Amino acid sequence: MTLTQLKSSSFSKAAEEIIAAGLFLGAKGWAPATSGNYSMRLEDGRIAITVSGRTKGALTAQSIMIVEADGTPCDNRIPSAETLLHVGIYHVYPDCHAVLHTHSLNSTVFTKRYAELDAIVLENYELLKVFPHIKTHEARVSLPIVDNAQDMKALSATITPRLAKDISAYLIRGHGLYAWGRDMTEARAIIEATEFMLGCELELRS
Ligand SMILES: [Zn+2]
Repeated sequence: MTLTQLKSSSFSKAAEEIIAAGLFLGAKGWAPATSGNYSMRLEDGRIAITVSGRTKGALTAQSIMIVEADGTPCDNRIPSAETLLHVGIYHVYPDCHAVLHTHSLNSTVFTKRYAELDAIVLENYELLKVFPHIKTHEARVSLPIVDNAQDMKALSATITPRLAKDISAYLIRGHGLYAWGRDMTEARAIIEATEFMLGCELELRS
């Protein structure tokens, strides 16, 4: 296989997985009004990411483009407005190959209702075992919550120092949830489990 063929097969596989993730997350109601964005790191280090403004439950291969590792677009389309947040996560976690971002009711309500919190502690949930490094429900994970901003450079600079080795998700207040994994299967499991635990926390605290 030539390098060009390798690059193109890596992109095709990533595009398929991103489209499937969009169907899954869109059906959950976690991508209202074209919100959310999804990406995968390609074998050559570049990033396949959703084009800005596409309906996430109806993505096609044309809805996904490639950006350089620093987020610079590789064609004249406009990548997700939050591309720099994906870039930041890939930079901090060399093992990470998939990043998903939802705009869910639970992540939005939780972070607005508990506006004084700068983290959410998830403790003693069976589903915590979805996170890498965790083998038992007797675990405690603190996920950062950062205030929302439209300046992605500033937002990335705020969140990056808080990306500890053992976390796989963070929340943006009044906005949504980011989660990532070593592959798309893991990223999907982590975002679904985190959304579930956020729903539990809202029920438990109400
Ligand atoms: Zn967003």
